[in-house]
Amino acid sequence: MDEASAARIRVFLNDPAGRGEKPVPSVPPRETERSPWGFRVEGPAPLPGEYEPDTPEFLHWQMAAALERARALWSRLLPEAGEWVPGPVLPAVPVAGEGLNAFYDRRALRFFRGENPATGEPVHSGESPDIVAHEAGHAVLDSVRPDLWDAPHFEAAAFHEAFGDLASILVAFDEPALVRAVTEETRGELQISNLVSRVAEELAAAAHARFGPGVALPDALRDAVNGFSYTGPAGLPSSAPPEALSAEPHSFCRVLTGACWDVLVALYRAFGGGEGDAPRNEEALARAAGETGRLFAEASLSAPAGADFFQRVARRMVRASAGDPATAERVAESLRRRGLAPPDARDGEGAAPPGLIRAALQRLPGEEEGEFLTRASRRERALRGRRKRDLFLHGPEYGPADGAAVEISDSFSLRFGDEGFVTASAVYPAGREDEQDARAWVRFLAERGAIAPAGDGSGPLELFGRGMSHAVVAEEDGVRRLRRVWVMRRCSAILPKGRGRP
Ligand SMILES: [Zn+2]
Repeated sequence: MDEASAARIRVFLNDPAGRGEKPVPSVPPRETERSPWGFRVEGPAPLPGEYEPDTPEFLHWQMAAALERARALWSRLLPEAGEWVPGPVLPAVPVAGEGLNAFYDRRALRFFRGENPATGEPVHSGESPDIVAHEAGHAVLDSVRPDLWDAPHFEAAAFHEAFGDLASILVAFDEPALVRAVTEETRGELQISNLVSRVAEELAAAAHARFGPGVALPDALRDAVNGFSYTGPAGLPSSAPPEALSAEPHSFCRVLTGACWDVLVALYRAFGGGEGDAPRNEEALARAAGETGRLFAEASLSAPAGADFFQRVARRMVRASAGDPATAERVAESLRRRGLAPPDARDGEGAAPPGLIRAALQRLPGEEEGEFLTRASRRERALRGRRKRDLFLHGPEYGPADGAAVEISDSFSLRFGDEGFVTASAVYPAGREDEQDARAWVRFLAERGAIAPAGDGSGPLELFGRGMSHAVVAEEDGVRRLRRVWVMRRCSAILPKGRGRP
């Protein structure tokens, strides 16, 4: 069959409620189960065709097309990766239940079907490329940074959400039609909110109509064009209306997403955007998105877990841009304006070369305890590792986690020169701030009723229904540890008690 006669599908390129969005013809993705980042939309696969939105056939191809776009992005940005935590093929469930949501649980991506009570229209979270790319982002990050999954820190949890939202934004900017739409909507002024900076518009509108203005902005779940600056999340309220910042990961993530958007804008201007004609703006935006993605992906891989994770990521974005001093200064300045990556922070870099891994390990506290994990990167000639340590929690304020442990990490990295000798090393032992942050994080979870007690025995879907993202698990070594069960896309504010969870 030649290209012209091949069956076509129709898909939304951006969120279904994104300004004036209409399904457009597209080519059905093929061989979706092949590596890297293979995936399978569960349920019967309909023949390719131009189906109507809100039909099972449309939903199938819409999800497949969005996952294919995510695969293309991450194959480019993370060329050494490509295998999911659940295995070589990630299942994606189009309708896992009723509700306004979606989540990832280390087994599959699960999407839901809800309704907008104001319009009576169905809302399939899987029909939004924003939401599909966000959930796939959680799974990609989990693949390359499995240590962040259980990391007991506000900023590690918020980073998962920022990664998801940036995944949505970067997937969108891989599409020339959306690059054009954004430069048209903003007239080349990218610091203006637009159809790509706003994520999950349709779901937000439905949540807004169903639960009221406290749960979502009327026009987006979140917007990367925002004015939030960094402040320690443990000092923030545990919930706040969508217009304000709280410690809740979906709220706090907006600091980093916003900062990355600022980096994108700065690079766009550096590449001649905002001054020239439309084609020049489009070219500058596509290039700026590509470069922002590269910096963010590199920083995501290399930043060691810890309480101040946003700062560590921000500093590595600056470092990743160091090849061009003018660019590095623009990146640093954008992050600094958000209170990220202060110029005087050294962050372990430049530590004296100890010669060998053993020397680095000996500098970590706590002798023989813990478990070592290492990751090698050929591209960067780097070896990274961490040692996990149990931090035990005692007190009623930890709820079901009273008496259980969380794992905190001492991390190290080694870099090698052309001859294979160690040229730089750094260690990041978890300190008192990390332990305090971990305790505050678990108190935060306990206060929200987000922890299932040991022996609860419920599966991820059931725990999701009860709003429990974490569970105390009795592990083989006899220790009860707090583990994450799922990570979701949700509204940024607290939900009124007893009114369900969007
Ligand atoms: Zn999420």
